[in-house]
Amino acid sequence: MGVGTRGGVGRYRERMGAIGTDEEGGAEGGLSGGVCAGGSDRGAAIAEAVRSVWGYESLRPLQSESIEAALEGRDALTVLPTGGGKSLCYQVPPLVTGRVTVVVSPLIALMHDQVRALELNGYAAAALNSAVAFEEAREIERKLVEGELNLVLAAPERIMTGGFRALLGRLQDAGRLGALAIDEAHCISQWGHDFRPEYRQLGGLREVVPGAAMHAFTATATPRVRRDIVEQLGLREPRVLVGEFDRPNLTYRVRSRQGRGEQQVLSAVKRMESRGEGGGAIVYCLSRADTERLAERLREEGLDARAYHAGLEAGKRRTIEDRFANERLDVVVATVAFGMGIDRSNVRLVVHATMPKSVEAYQQESGRAGRDGLDAECLLLFGSSDYMRWRQLLERSAAESGSSVEALEAQLGLLEQMQRLAASFVCRHKQLSEHFGQNYESSSCGACDVCLQETAAEPQSRRLCQVLLSAVARTGQRFGATHIVDVVRGSRAEHVMSRGHDQLRVHGMLSSRSKGEVLSMLDQLVAVGALEVLGEYRSLRFGRLGKEVMTGEREVQLAVPMGTRSDRKERSRARGGGSVGGRPLSDEERALFDGLKRVRKALAEETGVPPYMVFSDATLREIARTKPVSRTRLLEVKGVGSRKLELFGEAVLAAVAEHAGDAGGDADGGAEGEGSAVAG
Ligand SMILES: [Zn+2]
Repeated sequence: MGVGTRGGVGRYRERMGAIGTDEEGGAEGGLSGGVCAGGSDRGAAIAEAVRSVWGYESLRPLQSESIEAALEGRDALTVLPTGGGKSLCYQVPPLVTGRVTVVVSPLIALMHDQVRALELNGYAAAALNSAVAFEEAREIERKLVEGELNLVLAAPERIMTGGFRALLGRLQDAGRLGALAIDEAHCISQWGHDFRPEYRQLGGLREVVPGAAMHAFTATATPRVRRDIVEQLGLREPRVLVGEFDRPNLTYRVRSRQGRGEQQVLSAVKRMESRGEGGGAIVYCLSRADTERLAERLREEGLDARAYHAGLEAGKRRTIEDRFANERLDVVVATVAFGMGIDRSNVRLVVHATMPKSVEAYQQESGRAGRDGLDAECLLLFGSSDYMRWRQLLERSAAESGSSVEALEAQLGLLEQMQRLAASFVCRHKQLSEHFGQNYESSSCGACDVCLQETAAEPQSRRLCQVLLSAVARTGQRFGATHIVDVVRGSRAEHVMSRGHDQLRVHGMLSSRSKGEVLSMLDQLVAVGALEVLGEYRSLRFGRLGKEVMTGEREVQLAVPMGTRSDRKERSRARGGGSVGGRPLSDEERALFDGLKRVRKALAEETGVPPYMVFSDATLREIARTKPVSRTRLLEVKGVGSRKLELFGEAVLAAVAEHAGDAGGDADGGAEGEGSAVAG
């Protein structure tokens, strides 16, 4: 709590006072980004706030448009992918207008983290939720009305209570209410993947404070969901800002799962560790039992991995969350219950050991990798049983919650989209961008299994599909994948011979293919709907497209895995430059980087916050490269604002100086010579 709860409200309000009031009436005017008279002043005030509080020299794409819309008092919908900096869009305006932004946020853990991170930057914010005691809540309300807070976060169910509506009224009467920001706005739509009934009530906010502008934010929304958000919230002629969905720093890999995928997960984690850059890994599984089993398997291999799911008692869950956030634990094997509140920015690997339930969920979950903007990997393993497992789960939960048939069908539709994405042989960056309604121009991303040619198009797809479908048909659509594999590979095992399956024309037709290859082809046939998996024996039978594929009316392009390549090498070739986040650190810089990480850990413990809140890995890398020798120089590093300079600057500068002394050999003058050891 202790760190600077009084922010720079006064300072910015003073500077921008005139603009804040003048603009109110003229919202309809300069919409199309046209800068009005006060525009450049306003731009300067935004830049000043961002530099001094967050230590950023510039805003990311669409952030300034979103902030401008807020300052114009205009409704807006801002869609920025995870890591795109959407929270900054609602955090900056109060610093310029001096009025409060009320943020609706779905998770208490998320609010708490955000408040702590803001306080660490000297920004005055608070959260109102069921975890806040009555007296404390009263105090927060007083501060809000009296102008001591810039921002307040509240849960959706709280917003519509009588007490909160009264507070909104008081803020409005006092001229203190700036805007309402609805975070994770896709939760309002049943076409979204994360529908929350309590969000539906938010449409009523409009009547409570008709004068306030409303800003919806989400990291994931298809065009349909976007329309739904605008309609449900009753946004008035909103400015709709949709950011780039593509995350170029993420390398996507999609693989057919071998067995339970344990070996594949293990080698992905080891690959991450071998880079020696540290960072965390999240492995998503579908069931609690899956998480326990896989975590255990990883521990047998010497990794410190922990299972996490909603069945663990709250205290244990909290411990794992804290250890992961504080970088005392790097590998968590979890159900989707893990992640909403996890803001660790140096997650370097996200694995899906089972296909997720929608492309939206995939984008959100995989998007937890590389939030610091540095390279990270997303590995998706899928198998033929995934679709049915999800289908059963979705049907069961629909029955339990009594949700409508349309809602269930919408969910199943999303599941099918995910399955098609996994099975298709098209650049993953392109597929994800297009799913969210955006073009992806580049012919090769250099950062996915397809473009890295780790997955190749199978030239004999047509014949292979026909052989496999024929094998399923001729064995009576009653056997599981392993049996089909044995038949086409020409096995003479008892279970094949006794049924006369060695007499079939397809027997032995794929004898040159490995078991894994054939299983992967069957998975792909299931994924495109040519086959489906049935019952507890997981027998294969024709799916809705089975006949068309068999007769050759419809072509399915099968993919074959070619092994994992070094993405960095490939990527720099594809992009004509180093990997995202700059060239890799030299050995000497890495030594300083490691030293800085130790300093960060100590500072985090002292301050009682997770390390990523002190400085991100990206900030530490920049410090390791530029080796600032003065406070002024340190302030130039992205991610170092004035408050953090005050709190942590000394310790960081000392570490840099000490390193220069070690690296320079002769201690004298070592600290003076900035970049004494700048290696090429
Ligand atoms: Zn690609």
